[in-house]
Amino acid sequence: MLPFAYEKPKSLDDAVKALADEGAVPIAGGTTMIDLMKLYVLQPPKLVDIGGLPGLGEIEETDDAVVFGALVRMADAAEHPLLKSDYPALSEALWLAASPQIRNMATLGGNVLQRTRCPYFRDTSYRCNRRVPGSGCDAIGGINRLHAVLGTSETCIASYPGDWAVALAAFDTEVDAVSRAGKRTIAFADLHLRPDDHPERVHALKEGEVITHVRVKKTPLGKASTYYKVRDRESYAFALASVAAALVMDGETVKDVRLGLGGVASVPWRAREAEDGLKGQELTPETARRAGETAFRDARTYDHNAFKVPLGVETVVEALMSAKTRA
Ligand SMILES: Cc1cc2nc3c(=O)[nH]c(=O)nc-3n(C[C@H](O)[C@H](O)[C@H](O)COP(=O)(O)OP(=O)(O)OC[C@H]3O[C@@H](n4cnc5c(N)ncnc54)[C@H](O)[C@@H]3O)c2cc1C
Repeated sequence: MLPFAYEKPKSLDDAVKALADEGAVPIAGGTTMIDLMKLYVLQPPKLVDIGGLPGLGEIEETDDAVVFGALVRMADAAEHPLLKSDYPALSEALWLAASPQIRNMATLGGNVLQRTRCPYFRDTSYRCNRRVPGSGCDAIGGINRLHAVLGTSETCIASYPGDWAVALAAFDTEVDAVSRAGKRTIAFADLHLRPDDHPERVHALKEGEVITHVRVKKTPLGKASTYYKVRDRESYAFALASVAAALVMDGETVKDVRLGLGGVASVPWRAREAEDGLKGQELTPETARRAGETAFRDARTYDHNAFKVPLGVETVVEALMSAKTRA
């Protein structure tokens, strides 16, 4: 690890000031950041430790939203009674992520902004456009079993690895952020950036900007929601394919539906066309499969990851039929 400056401010205002220094980045639980620094993948000159800041560690209900402080620990959110009863997809996505030790340490803000697990990004002996812009992508043509099939580009095929963000993508979610330029709110769908021409830019936050809250608009879709995750082993593994499904049913007919996809795309993925095709339909394994096929219609596969398309379709079916039992 290279030497770096470290500052632990006592207030959000002080944190924002500290983050205005060139190259300064926030660290919260540190479970992604420290790993990547030890691997020489990230080498920030200055860490601003926001982990102990007051006022950002609560989950609160307002009239129209559930508001998560950015420093809420994954474990605390996973077992929050409101999430378990009214938004099970949000709770399950956290339970199925990482390990108990990591969930006790990691924060929701850091979770949402975790970096790809692409082995070519995490190993500096390979070419990676995300790590070194313009250097090339050794994953294309390499061992790409874990990589994305949706939202990739000629420059990068890394998948977004997190679980919670996939569940958030299925709801109407916003992120509050603050920097020296002031406060602003970003639609969750605009937070993560697809690789396109600039794979090194993974999120829409500006330098020195920090997430303070994640807000999920209250919705009847929450109750009949689920997060279904398929991975190489049943615990402590990232998703090969995952689906957050949320439903409002009118008898056997789908009145409203949301589908978030994980493990298969460059960003937390909302399958809007698949949702539109399901609305007004009876929900059966056959209509659920058609929705899955629609969700993966534009998939682009590489040498080793074509299996993610049929796996993803089946995962959509499982998640929808499981959400239906809760409707
Ligand atoms: C072995 C292992 C297995 C894992 N398995 C899973 C899994 O199955 N599913 C899953 O979802 N995750 C998994 N993870 C990832 C883990 O959930 C993340 O490392 C964790 O959530 C990151 O949170 P943190 O608070 O530790 O973030 P940090 O490491 O502190 O920060 C992560 C990034 O977010 C930025 N950041 C942090 N907080 C803020 C903020 N408030 N505003 C702006 N930027 C911020 C940091 O600058 C950094 O770039 C795993 C991690 C490990 C090490």
